[in-house]
Amino acid sequence: MKVALIGVGQAGGKVTERLANFDAEMGFDAVQGALAINSAQADLQSLSIETQLIGQDRVNGHGVGGDNELGAEVMQSDIQEVVNALDGHVTSRAEAIWVVAGLGGGTGSGGAPALVHELQRVYDVPIYALGILPGENEGSLYQANAGRSLKTVVREADSTLLIDNDAWHEQGESVEGAFDTINQKIAQRVGLLFASGEAIEGVGESVVDSSEVINTLREGGISVLGYASAVAAEDSAENINTVMTVSRQALLTGTSLPDATTAEAALLVVAGEPDRIPRKGVEKSRRWLEDETGSMQVRGGDFPLGSDRLAALVLLGGAERSDRIGEFLERAKQAQAEADEPETDPAEAFADDRLENLF
Ligand code: GDP
Repeated sequence: MKVALIGVGQAGGKVTERLANFDAEMGFDAVQGALAINSAQADLQSLSIETQLIGQDRVNGHGVGGDNELGAEVMQSDIQEVVNALDGHVTSRAEAIWVVAGLGGGTGSGGAPALVHELQRVYDVPIYALGILPGENEGSLYQANAGRSLKTVVREADSTLLIDNDAWHEQGESVEGAFDTINQKIAQRVGLLFASGEAIEGVGESVVDSSEVINTLREGGISVLGYASAVAAEDSAENINTVMTVSRQALLTGTSLPDATTAEAALLVVAGEPDRIPRKGVEKSRRWLEDETGSMQVRGGDFPLGSDRLAALVLLGGAERSDRIGEFLERAKQAQAEADEPETDPAEAFADDRLENLF
């Protein structure tokens, strides 16, 4: 799938840069253009892709803090400049536009839904969002911001691919310390998804086509990506179990939104050396995926890649009914309710019996 990428905010810019670099390093040529937009000048300076500063008249390059309403406003006021800056990136070859943002901050949280809204008016291709959800231990402002941002971006985008910050980092690592790992995984996995929709010359008919990615996302709502890989034997007949194992792991333990297994549609891409990919294993995995997701629309295909491993990439479309979304929305609503409570005087906590003395 030929894509144009637009990162909004700090996380959005960093992840967009990683995606563009991964695509270039692998020689996939799926990424047609990459632009980072921010209201904070300092966050743009460290990036190696093209950048656009917004909201200069309001915040003078200092960012919007955690104020996502202001994030939406500065995007709306400068939308014309942003659309002009995109002209060179959203070439006629792009089959989809992806707006990338951390949903818990300010600029990306507010700016991404506002940008998606405008892009829907201007372009005919699907406009997707890649949204990063704050991990469970991130502060309540992040949770509340992400709740409102998610609600709005899901309404505006053709599909919103969610990456939970708790999903793809190692146990014991703090979320901040893990950003690098998480960003690299996003770049590889989402980068493979973009590239798997690319026509590859001289390979068999089972190669995935961009339209299959687009059709899987056609359900709208929330989408989720899963990934797992394992070492493969040279003979494809010996890899039937390997393909089934990695497909199961991709869905059950490797998704970008843990425990999201219910979906309206799914796509299974098996990546590896074509001679090592067993047809029977791919077929069995596809049927298993149908049962597991409860979806009648499970598409599938191969992605030829020079590697001694086999990997399964599972894209779920229409996955908003998963428990994890419910849990997150609950967290966000609670954080919002706490933020809306009138300020209390901390001294009052000492005045009555609300806190008991230790002795
Ligand atoms: P903005 O610049 O105002 O849009 O704010 P951020 O992009 O910093 O958004 C804050 C949210 O994004 C929080 O939930 C952070 O945990 C998350 N975040 C910030 N930087 C990164 C990053 O590099 N990678 C990932 N995965 N998440 C990030």
